[in-house]
Amino acid sequence: MEYAYDDQNIFAKILRGEIPNKTVYENDYALAFEDIAPQAPVHVLVIPKGAYVSLDHFARDASAEEHHGFMQAVAEVCRIMDVEAGFRSIANTRVHGVQDVPHYHMHIIGGRQLGRMLQ
Ligand code: 5GP
Repeated sequence: MEYAYDDQNIFAKILRGEIPNKTVYENDYALAFEDIAPQAPVHVLVIPKGAYVSLDHFARDASAEEHHGFMQAVAEVCRIMDVEAGFRSIANTRVHGVQDVPHYHMHIIGGRQLGRMLQ
């Protein structure tokens, strides 16, 4: 599969500092920030700093360092946001997954009972 990255997407602009964000955590490989339209008391987006359009793109092409850095950011977000009671991680992908922003992002959602996965 071909993955075409559009560097004008909103998260690319956030990474370049062209659009502000409320940063929760950052390392060399990933940035975590609050979702602008939170669906729950905790709603953080974790994105890689590399140009990956989706989870499957990142899974296929990211280096071991990028994978590790991304997951370290996920761990830090869970610690900082104190989601001991649980949370949901979501990576909406392309058309069937209703992905709005074509830069891979993992939603970390929690802070309340979320119900079953799909209605
Ligand atoms: P998707 O539907 O692609 O999985 O989710 C995209 C998410 O990005 C949505 O939850 C939306 O609220 C969030 N979002 C869109 N634009 C911005 C923005 O400019 N700043 C932040 N912090 N979040 C955004």
